Amino acid sequence: MSSMSLPYAEPLVPREPAERQIPEPPRRGEPGGPPCGICTGKSTPPVWSDDNWTLHPPVGGSLLGTVWLASRVHADSFSDLPEELAGDFGRVAARVERAILSLGDIARVHLYRWGDGGAHFHVWFLPRPLGMVEASGMMLPLWEDVLPNVADEELAAAAERVAAQV
Ligand SMILES: [Zn+2]
Repeated sequence: MSSMSLPYAEPLVPREPAERQIPEPPRRGEPGGPPCGICTGKSTPPVWSDDNWTLHPPVGGSLLGTVWLASRVHADSFSDLPEELAGDFGRVAARVERAILSLGDIARVHLYRWGDGGAHFHVWFLPRPLGMVEASGMMLPLWEDVLPNVADEELAAAAERVAAQV
């Protein structure tokens, strides 16, 4: 991982963390917060679904083949999912990973479950372009943010190609 690097010229200046905000501001889909965007259909329409999951393209992204997988049930994190779904996640994640790799020119598929924006379970799948070793590990979402966005229609079309292979 020694080749991974920030998408910024150095030197960067370390800074202190801000004052902690306790309690934290409510997220979408939790008591006191805005409505859940996934449950209210505000997110991009799914390109694939089954009884348990829906698969969505991003908006405003830079990496073709990026998708996010959401549970149909409104549950927060892995520990809140019904046990059957928690088990099923591995099966579906493997299928989505394989489908993204089938697009070609991809070294690895990175999975991210943050949960800081909304309280509805969803996991991001980001393809790391083949040979882009500077975007290894935790650098990929930073590079994804800094690289120029591609059109949302292109992101959706790539997600449709992924969906066709899931
Ligand atoms: Zn929800």
